Amino acid sequence: MTHQPAIPSLTAADPEIAGLIEQEAARQHDKIRLIASENYVSQAVLEATGTVLTNKYSEGYAGKRYYEGQQIVDPVETLAIERAKALFGAEHANVQSYSGSPANLAAYLAFAKPGDPVLGMALPDGGHLTHGWSVSATGKWFTPVRYGVRKETGRVDLDQVRDLAREHRPKLIFAGGTAIPRTIDFPAFAEIAREIDAVLVADIAHIAGLVAGGAHPSPVGHAQVITTTTHKTLRGPRGAMILTDADHAKAIDKAVFPGLQGGPHNHTTAAIAVALGEAAKPEFREYAHAIVANAKALAEALIERGFDLVSGGTDNHLLLVDLTTKNIGGKPAAKALDKAGIELNYNTVPFDPRKPFDPSGIRLGTGAITTRGLRPEHQPQIAEWIARTVSAAAAEDEAALGTIAAEVRELLAGYPIPGYLEA
Ligand SMILES: *Cc1c(COP(=O)(O)O)cnc(C)c1O
Repeated sequence: MTHQPAIPSLTAADPEIAGLIEQEAARQHDKIRLIASENYVSQAVLEATGTVLTNKYSEGYAGKRYYEGQQIVDPVETLAIERAKALFGAEHANVQSYSGSPANLAAYLAFAKPGDPVLGMALPDGGHLTHGWSVSATGKWFTPVRYGVRKETGRVDLDQVRDLAREHRPKLIFAGGTAIPRTIDFPAFAEIAREIDAVLVADIAHIAGLVAGGAHPSPVGHAQVITTTTHKTLRGPRGAMILTDADHAKAIDKAVFPGLQGGPHNHTTAAIAVALGEAAKPEFREYAHAIVANAKALAEALIERGFDLVSGGTDNHLLLVDLTTKNIGGKPAAKALDKAGIELNYNTVPFDPRKPFDPSGIRLGTGAITTRGLRPEHQPQIAEWIARTVSAAAAEDEAALGTIAAEVRELLAGYPIPGYLEA
Protein backbone atom coordinates (compact mmCIF):
# COMPACT_ATOMS: atom_id res chain seq x y z
CA MET A 1 0.00 0.00 0.00
CA THR A 2 1.25 3.47 -0.69
CA HIS A 3 -0.30 6.39 1.11
CA GLN A 4 1.40 9.63 0.07
CA PRO A 5 3.20 11.12 1.92
CA ALA A 6 4.52 7.72 3.04
CA ILE A 7 3.84 6.76 6.67
CA PRO A 8 6.72 4.46 7.69
CA SER A 9 6.97 5.62 11.33
CA LEU A 10 3.25 5.24 11.81
CA THR A 11 3.31 1.81 10.22
CA ALA A 12 6.03 0.73 12.65
CA ALA A 13 4.47 2.34 15.73
CA ASP A 14 0.81 1.56 15.12
CA PRO A 15 0.24 -0.91 12.33
CA GLU A 16 -3.46 -1.10 13.13
CA ILE A 17 -4.17 2.57 12.43
CA ALA A 18 -1.58 2.73 9.64
CA GLY A 19 -3.26 -0.22 7.95
CA LEU A 20 -6.64 1.47 8.11
CA ILE A 21 -5.19 4.69 6.66
CA GLU A 22 -3.61 2.73 3.80
CA GLN A 23 -6.94 1.05 3.12
CA GLU A 24 -8.73 4.39 3.12
CA ALA A 25 -6.22 5.81 0.60
CA ALA A 26 -6.85 2.83 -1.69
CA ARG A 27 -10.61 3.15 -1.20
CA GLN A 28 -10.49 6.85 -2.09
CA HIS A 29 -8.55 5.94 -5.22
CA ASP A 30 -10.85 3.11 -6.33
CA LYS A 31 -14.16 4.97 -6.19
CA ILE A 32 -15.78 7.69 -8.21
CA ARG A 33 -16.13 10.29 -5.51
CA LEU A 34 -19.34 12.17 -6.21
CA ILE A 35 -19.88 13.38 -2.64
CA ALA A 36 -20.53 17.05 -3.29
CA SER A 37 -18.75 18.24 -0.13
CA GLU A 38 -15.56 16.23 -0.67
CA ASN A 39 -12.40 16.66 -2.67
CA TYR A 40 -8.80 15.46 -2.89
CA VAL A 41 -6.30 17.91 -1.42
CA SER A 42 -2.86 18.24 -2.94
CA GLN A 43 0.14 16.47 -1.54
CA ALA A 44 1.44 19.89 -0.40
CA VAL A 45 -1.72 20.46 1.65
CA LEU A 46 -1.46 16.94 3.10
CA GLU A 47 2.14 17.58 4.09
CA ALA A 48 1.27 20.88 5.79
CA THR A 49 -1.42 19.22 7.91
CA GLY A 50 1.07 16.66 9.20
CA THR A 51 3.64 19.06 10.67
CA VAL A 52 4.96 20.18 14.08
CA LEU A 53 2.60 23.15 13.94
CA THR A 54 0.12 20.80 15.62
CA ASN A 55 2.28 21.06 18.77
CA LYS A 56 1.74 24.78 19.30
CA TYR A 57 -0.75 26.74 21.40
CA SER A 58 -1.45 30.25 20.17
CA GLU A 59 -4.68 31.60 21.67
CA GLY A 60 -5.29 35.11 20.40
CA TYR A 61 -4.32 36.75 17.13
CA ALA A 62 -0.96 37.65 15.56
CA GLY A 63 0.85 40.14 17.80
CA LYS A 64 -1.68 39.63 20.65
CA ARG A 65 -1.23 36.07 21.89
CA TYR A 66 -1.64 34.54 25.32
CA TYR A 67 1.33 32.17 24.99
CA GLU A 68 4.97 32.82 24.13
CA GLY A 69 6.88 31.36 21.20
CA GLN A 70 4.72 32.75 18.39
CA GLN A 71 7.66 33.86 16.19
CA ILE A 72 6.68 31.37 13.48
CA VAL A 73 2.97 30.86 14.02
CA ASP A 74 2.25 34.59 13.65
CA PRO A 75 3.62 34.80 10.10
CA VAL A 76 1.90 31.51 9.19
CA GLU A 77 -1.50 32.83 10.25
CA THR A 78 -0.83 36.26 8.73
CA LEU A 79 0.03 34.64 5.40
CA ALA A 80 -3.22 32.66 5.46
CA ILE A 81 -5.18 35.83 6.23
CA GLU A 82 -3.48 37.91 3.54
CA ARG A 83 -3.97 35.18 0.94
CA ALA A 84 -7.65 34.82 1.85
CA LYS A 85 -8.20 38.59 1.58
CA ALA A 86 -6.39 38.79 -1.75
CA LEU A 87 -8.08 35.73 -3.27
CA PHE A 88 -11.62 36.84 -2.42
CA GLY A 89 -11.07 40.62 -2.39
CA ALA A 90 -12.31 40.82 1.20
CA GLU A 91 -11.45 43.51 3.74
CA HIS A 92 -10.92 41.09 6.60
CA ALA A 93 -10.38 37.37 7.13
CA ASN A 94 -10.44 35.12 10.18
CA VAL A 95 -8.91 31.70 9.55
CA GLN A 96 -9.25 30.19 13.03
CA SER A 97 -12.71 28.59 13.03
CA TYR A 98 -12.36 24.85 13.48
CA SER A 99 -14.90 24.04 10.79
CA GLY A 100 -17.93 25.36 8.94
CA SER A 101 -20.41 24.82 11.76
CA PRO A 102 -18.46 26.78 14.41
CA ALA A 103 -17.81 29.49 11.80
CA ASN A 104 -21.56 29.95 11.47
CA LEU A 105 -21.96 29.90 15.24
CA ALA A 106 -19.52 32.81 15.38
CA ALA A 107 -21.89 34.85 13.20
CA TYR A 108 -24.73 34.19 15.67
CA LEU A 109 -22.58 35.04 18.68
CA ALA A 110 -21.35 38.24 17.03
CA PHE A 111 -24.67 39.64 15.79
CA ALA A 112 -27.61 37.99 17.59
CA LYS A 113 -28.81 37.28 21.10
CA PRO A 114 -30.46 34.04 22.26
CA GLY A 115 -34.09 34.05 21.20
CA ASP A 116 -33.57 36.51 18.33
CA PRO A 117 -35.21 35.66 15.01
CA VAL A 118 -32.84 34.38 12.33
CA LEU A 119 -33.74 33.60 8.73
CA GLY A 120 -32.22 30.66 6.88
CA MET A 121 -33.04 28.12 4.23
CA ALA A 122 -34.97 25.06 5.41
CA LEU A 123 -32.85 21.91 5.56
CA PRO A 124 -35.09 19.84 3.24
CA ASP A 125 -34.90 22.63 0.66
CA GLY A 126 -31.10 22.69 0.70
CA GLY A 127 -30.17 24.73 3.77
CA HIS A 128 -27.58 23.68 6.36
CA LEU A 129 -28.32 22.47 9.90
CA THR A 130 -26.59 25.55 11.29
CA HIS A 131 -28.97 27.91 9.49
CA GLY A 132 -31.50 27.38 12.27
CA TRP A 133 -32.67 23.79 11.81
CA SER A 134 -34.50 22.50 14.90
CA VAL A 135 -32.02 19.81 16.02
CA SER A 136 -29.11 22.28 15.82
CA ALA A 137 -28.12 24.61 18.67
CA THR A 138 -28.86 27.40 16.21
CA GLY A 139 -32.48 26.27 16.00
CA LYS A 140 -32.82 25.72 19.77
CA TRP A 141 -31.15 28.91 21.02
CA PHE A 142 -32.51 31.30 18.42
CA THR A 143 -35.94 31.69 16.82
CA PRO A 144 -35.57 30.25 13.36
CA VAL A 145 -37.62 31.39 10.40
CA ARG A 146 -37.18 29.37 7.21
CA TYR A 147 -37.47 30.00 3.52
CA GLY A 148 -37.49 27.42 0.78
CA VAL A 149 -37.59 26.87 -2.94
CA ARG A 150 -40.50 27.23 -5.33
CA LYS A 151 -42.16 23.93 -6.13
CA GLU A 152 -42.37 24.64 -9.87
CA THR A 153 -38.77 25.76 -10.35
CA GLY A 154 -36.80 24.19 -7.49
CA ARG A 155 -35.16 27.61 -7.06
CA VAL A 156 -34.98 29.85 -3.99
CA ASP A 157 -38.21 31.79 -3.51
CA LEU A 158 -36.89 35.32 -3.04
CA ASP A 159 -40.43 36.73 -2.64
CA GLN A 160 -40.83 34.44 0.35
CA VAL A 161 -37.44 35.53 1.71
CA ARG A 162 -38.53 39.18 1.47
CA ASP A 163 -41.95 38.56 3.02
CA LEU A 164 -40.50 36.57 5.93
CA ALA A 165 -37.78 39.17 6.48
CA ARG A 166 -40.34 42.00 6.65
CA GLU A 167 -42.62 40.02 8.96
CA HIS A 168 -40.05 38.64 11.42
CA ARG A 169 -37.20 41.17 11.13
CA PRO A 170 -34.41 38.62 11.69
CA LYS A 171 -31.04 39.77 13.02
CA LEU A 172 -29.26 37.44 10.58
CA ILE A 173 -30.15 36.20 7.13
CA PHE A 174 -28.28 33.18 5.79
CA ALA A 175 -27.83 32.79 2.04
CA GLY A 176 -26.39 29.50 0.85
CA GLY A 177 -26.72 25.86 1.71
CA THR A 178 -25.66 22.27 1.18
CA ALA A 179 -27.87 21.14 -1.65
CA ILE A 180 -28.41 24.14 -3.90
CA PRO A 181 -27.73 23.32 -7.55
CA ARG A 182 -28.32 26.88 -8.76
CA THR A 183 -26.55 30.25 -8.64
CA ILE A 184 -27.20 32.16 -5.41
CA ASP A 185 -28.43 35.69 -6.01
CA PHE A 186 -26.35 37.55 -3.42
CA PRO A 187 -27.37 41.07 -4.57
CA ALA A 188 -31.06 40.16 -4.11
CA PHE A 189 -30.41 38.83 -0.60
CA ALA A 190 -28.39 41.95 0.20
CA GLU A 191 -31.24 44.22 -0.82
CA ILE A 192 -33.63 42.34 1.49
CA ALA A 193 -31.16 42.38 4.39
CA ARG A 194 -30.49 46.11 3.94
CA GLU A 195 -34.19 46.93 4.04
CA ILE A 196 -34.60 45.42 7.53
CA ASP A 197 -31.07 46.18 8.74
CA ALA A 198 -30.13 42.52 9.15
CA VAL A 199 -26.62 41.13 8.78
CA LEU A 200 -26.39 39.05 5.61
CA VAL A 201 -24.28 35.94 6.10
CA ALA A 202 -23.30 34.25 2.83
CA ASP A 203 -22.39 30.67 3.66
CA ILE A 204 -20.32 29.63 0.65
CA ALA A 205 -19.01 26.37 2.14
CA HIS A 206 -19.89 24.42 -1.00
CA ILE A 207 -19.06 26.96 -3.67
CA ALA A 208 -15.98 28.73 -2.23
CA GLY A 209 -13.72 27.16 -4.87
CA LEU A 210 -16.09 28.24 -7.63
CA VAL A 211 -16.18 31.78 -6.26
CA ALA A 212 -12.37 31.86 -5.95
CA GLY A 213 -12.03 30.58 -9.51
CA GLY A 214 -14.60 32.95 -10.98
CA ALA A 215 -17.16 30.22 -11.75
CA HIS A 216 -19.84 31.57 -9.37
CA PRO A 217 -20.59 35.24 -8.54
CA SER A 218 -18.89 36.45 -5.36
CA PRO A 219 -20.83 37.58 -2.29
CA VAL A 220 -18.08 40.10 -1.44
CA GLY A 221 -19.58 43.57 -1.45
CA HIS A 222 -23.06 42.12 -0.85
CA ALA A 223 -22.79 40.08 2.36
CA GLN A 224 -21.16 41.71 5.36
CA VAL A 225 -20.13 38.29 6.65
CA ILE A 226 -19.06 35.32 4.51
CA THR A 227 -18.49 31.95 6.13
CA THR A 228 -16.96 28.99 4.37
CA THR A 229 -15.41 25.64 4.94
CA THR A 230 -12.01 25.24 3.33
CA HIS A 231 -12.33 21.56 2.40
CA LYS A 232 -15.07 21.42 -0.24
CA THR A 233 -14.57 22.94 -3.71
CA LEU A 234 -11.84 25.20 -2.28
CA ARG A 235 -9.77 22.00 -1.94
CA GLY A 236 -8.00 22.78 1.33
CA PRO A 237 -7.77 20.95 4.65
CA ARG A 238 -10.81 20.43 6.90
CA GLY A 239 -11.29 23.89 8.36
CA ALA A 240 -13.09 27.18 7.84
CA MET A 241 -12.69 30.89 7.25
CA ILE A 242 -14.83 33.93 7.87
CA LEU A 243 -14.49 36.92 5.55
CA THR A 244 -16.04 40.23 6.56
CA ASP A 245 -16.15 43.89 5.63
CA ALA A 246 -14.19 46.26 7.87
CA ASP A 247 -17.25 47.13 10.00
CA HIS A 248 -17.94 43.54 11.02
CA ALA A 249 -14.34 42.40 11.48
CA LYS A 250 -13.88 43.03 15.19
CA ALA A 251 -17.12 41.40 16.27
CA ILE A 252 -16.32 38.25 14.28
CA ASP A 253 -12.77 38.01 15.63
CA LYS A 254 -14.08 38.37 19.20
CA ALA A 255 -16.77 35.76 18.59
CA VAL A 256 -14.27 33.19 17.29
CA PHE A 257 -11.77 33.88 20.07
CA PRO A 258 -12.44 34.14 22.97
CA GLY A 259 -16.15 33.70 22.26
CA LEU A 260 -16.18 30.14 21.01
CA GLN A 261 -12.72 28.68 20.86
CA GLY A 262 -9.36 28.32 22.57
CA GLY A 263 -6.22 27.77 20.54
CA PRO A 264 -6.39 27.67 16.76
CA HIS A 265 -5.23 24.56 14.89
CA ASN A 266 -2.00 25.93 13.45
CA HIS A 267 -1.24 22.93 11.23
CA THR A 268 -4.63 23.47 9.63
CA THR A 269 -3.97 27.20 9.29
CA ALA A 270 -0.74 26.44 7.42
CA ALA A 271 -2.54 24.00 5.14
CA ILE A 272 -5.28 26.59 4.50
CA ALA A 273 -2.54 29.06 3.48
CA VAL A 274 -1.10 26.46 1.10
CA ALA A 275 -4.53 25.74 -0.42
CA LEU A 276 -5.19 29.48 -0.83
CA GLY A 277 -1.84 29.81 -2.60
CA GLU A 278 -2.90 27.03 -4.97
CA ALA A 279 -6.31 28.64 -5.51
CA ALA A 280 -4.65 31.90 -6.58
CA LYS A 281 -2.96 30.20 -9.54
CA PRO A 282 -4.42 30.36 -13.07
CA GLU A 283 -4.81 26.53 -13.07
CA PHE A 284 -7.35 26.87 -10.28
CA ARG A 285 -9.56 29.11 -12.41
CA GLU A 286 -9.49 26.38 -15.04
CA TYR A 287 -10.28 23.83 -12.34
CA ALA A 288 -13.30 25.81 -11.10
CA HIS A 289 -14.74 26.15 -14.60
CA ALA A 290 -14.04 22.47 -15.33
CA ILE A 291 -16.05 21.51 -12.21
CA VAL A 292 -19.08 23.33 -13.62
CA ALA A 293 -18.58 21.93 -17.13
CA ASN A 294 -18.45 18.41 -15.65
CA ALA A 295 -21.58 18.99 -13.57
CA LYS A 296 -23.50 20.29 -16.59
CA ALA A 297 -22.37 17.33 -18.70
CA LEU A 298 -23.33 14.86 -15.96
CA ALA A 299 -26.72 16.57 -15.56
CA GLU A 300 -27.37 16.33 -19.28
CA ALA A 301 -26.36 12.67 -19.40
CA LEU A 302 -28.56 11.80 -16.42
CA ILE A 303 -31.56 13.66 -17.87
CA GLU A 304 -31.07 11.72 -21.12
CA ARG A 305 -31.39 8.53 -19.06
CA GLY A 306 -34.67 9.69 -17.58
CA PHE A 307 -33.45 11.01 -14.22
CA ASP A 308 -35.39 13.82 -12.60
CA LEU A 309 -33.09 16.66 -11.47
CA VAL A 310 -34.29 19.19 -8.91
CA SER A 311 -34.50 22.55 -10.74
CA GLY A 312 -33.93 20.67 -14.01
CA GLY A 313 -30.14 20.95 -13.99
CA THR A 314 -27.23 22.76 -12.37
CA ASP A 315 -25.26 26.01 -12.49
CA ASN A 316 -22.52 24.86 -10.14
CA HIS A 317 -20.81 21.65 -8.95
CA LEU A 318 -23.92 20.04 -7.48
CA LEU A 319 -26.80 17.91 -8.72
CA LEU A 320 -29.82 16.82 -6.73
CA VAL A 321 -31.62 13.84 -8.23
CA ASP A 322 -35.17 12.89 -7.25
CA LEU A 323 -35.42 9.11 -7.65
CA THR A 324 -39.18 8.89 -7.16
CA THR A 325 -39.75 8.07 -10.84
CA LYS A 326 -37.09 5.31 -10.63
CA ASN A 327 -39.04 3.45 -7.93
CA ILE A 328 -36.18 3.41 -5.45
CA GLY A 329 -35.41 5.46 -2.34
CA GLY A 330 -32.28 7.58 -2.03
CA LYS A 331 -30.77 5.40 0.68
CA PRO A 332 -30.91 1.99 -1.05
CA ALA A 333 -29.72 3.68 -4.25
CA ALA A 334 -26.75 5.31 -2.47
CA LYS A 335 -25.83 2.00 -0.81
CA ALA A 336 -25.96 0.15 -4.14
CA LEU A 337 -23.94 2.88 -5.86
CA ASP A 338 -21.26 2.60 -3.17
CA LYS A 339 -21.02 -1.14 -3.86
CA ALA A 340 -20.71 -0.30 -7.56
CA GLY A 341 -17.78 2.02 -6.83
CA ILE A 342 -19.71 5.29 -6.97
CA GLU A 343 -19.69 7.16 -3.69
CA LEU A 344 -22.36 9.77 -2.94
CA ASN A 345 -24.98 10.53 -0.32
CA TYR A 346 -28.73 10.13 -0.03
CA ASN A 347 -30.48 13.45 0.39
CA THR A 348 -33.90 14.95 0.93
CA VAL A 349 -35.39 16.74 -2.04
CA PRO A 350 -37.65 19.81 -1.69
CA PHE A 351 -41.22 18.81 -0.67
CA ASP A 352 -39.93 15.28 0.02
CA PRO A 353 -42.80 13.04 1.11
CA ARG A 354 -40.30 10.58 2.67
CA LYS A 355 -38.39 10.84 5.97
CA PRO A 356 -34.91 12.49 6.21
CA PHE A 357 -33.20 9.16 7.07
CA ASP A 358 -34.87 7.51 4.07
CA PRO A 359 -35.42 10.34 1.59
CA SER A 360 -36.24 10.43 -2.12
CA GLY A 361 -33.03 11.79 -3.52
CA ILE A 362 -29.30 11.52 -4.01
CA ARG A 363 -26.84 14.40 -4.13
CA LEU A 364 -23.90 14.44 -6.52
CA GLY A 365 -20.99 16.84 -6.95
CA THR A 366 -18.10 17.07 -9.37
CA GLY A 367 -15.38 18.80 -7.30
CA ALA A 368 -13.43 15.61 -6.56
CA ILE A 369 -13.70 13.90 -9.94
CA THR A 370 -12.56 17.11 -11.61
CA THR A 371 -9.47 17.17 -9.39
CA ARG A 372 -8.52 13.71 -10.57
CA GLY A 373 -8.85 14.75 -14.19
CA LEU A 374 -12.24 13.44 -15.33
CA ARG A 375 -13.81 15.71 -17.93
CA PRO A 376 -17.19 16.19 -19.68
CA GLU A 377 -16.47 13.31 -22.09
CA HIS A 378 -16.46 10.90 -19.12
CA GLN A 379 -19.84 11.97 -17.80
CA PRO A 380 -22.06 9.89 -20.13
CA GLN A 381 -20.23 6.77 -18.90
CA ILE A 382 -20.72 7.78 -15.26
CA ALA A 383 -24.42 8.41 -15.93
CA GLU A 384 -24.66 5.00 -17.59
CA TRP A 385 -23.12 3.33 -14.53
CA ILE A 386 -25.51 5.22 -12.24
CA ALA A 387 -28.51 4.18 -14.36
CA ARG A 388 -27.40 0.55 -14.47
CA THR A 389 -26.78 0.51 -10.72
CA VAL A 390 -30.16 2.02 -9.92
CA SER A 391 -31.88 -0.58 -12.14
CA ALA A 392 -29.80 -3.39 -10.61
CA ALA A 393 -30.64 -2.17 -7.10
CA ALA A 394 -34.35 -2.00 -7.90
CA ALA A 395 -34.09 -5.58 -9.24
CA GLU A 396 -31.88 -6.67 -6.28
CA ASP A 397 -29.18 -7.84 -8.70
CA GLU A 398 -26.05 -7.81 -6.48
CA ALA A 399 -23.80 -9.40 -9.10
CA ALA A 400 -24.28 -6.49 -11.48
CA LEU A 401 -22.89 -4.10 -8.85
CA GLY A 402 -19.59 -5.99 -8.70
CA THR A 403 -19.28 -5.87 -12.47
CA ILE A 404 -19.82 -2.11 -12.48
CA ALA A 405 -17.29 -1.62 -9.65
CA ALA A 406 -14.66 -3.42 -11.76
CA GLU A 407 -15.41 -1.20 -14.76
CA VAL A 408 -15.15 1.88 -12.54
CA ARG A 409 -11.75 0.77 -11.19
CA GLU A 410 -10.49 0.24 -14.71
CA LEU A 411 -11.34 3.80 -15.74
CA LEU A 412 -9.95 5.31 -12.52
CA ALA A 413 -6.61 3.51 -12.88
CA GLY A 414 -5.77 6.16 -15.48
CA TYR A 415 -6.62 9.05 -13.13
CA PRO A 416 -4.38 9.06 -10.05
CA ILE A 417 -5.26 11.03 -6.90
CA PRO A 418 -2.91 12.99 -4.68
CA GLY A 419 -2.48 11.01 -1.44
CA TYR A 420 -2.13 7.60 -3.03
CA LEU A 421 0.41 6.06 -5.32
CA GLU A 422 -0.68 2.82 -6.92
CA ALA A 423 1.87 0.12 -6.13
C1 LIG B 1 -20.49 21.77 4.98
C2 LIG B 1 -21.28 22.95 5.37
C3 LIG B 1 -21.19 23.53 6.64
C4 LIG B 1 -20.52 22.85 7.81
O1 LIG B 1 -19.23 22.55 7.72
P1 LIG B 1 -18.57 21.50 8.73
O2 LIG B 1 -17.14 21.72 8.47
O3 LIG B 1 -19.08 20.15 8.35
O4 LIG B 1 -18.98 21.89 10.11
C5 LIG B 1 -21.85 24.71 6.88
N1 LIG B 1 -22.59 25.29 5.93
C6 LIG B 1 -22.73 24.75 4.71
C7 LIG B 1 -23.56 25.44 3.69
C8 LIG B 1 -22.10 23.56 4.39
O5 LIG B 1 -22.28 23.02 3.20
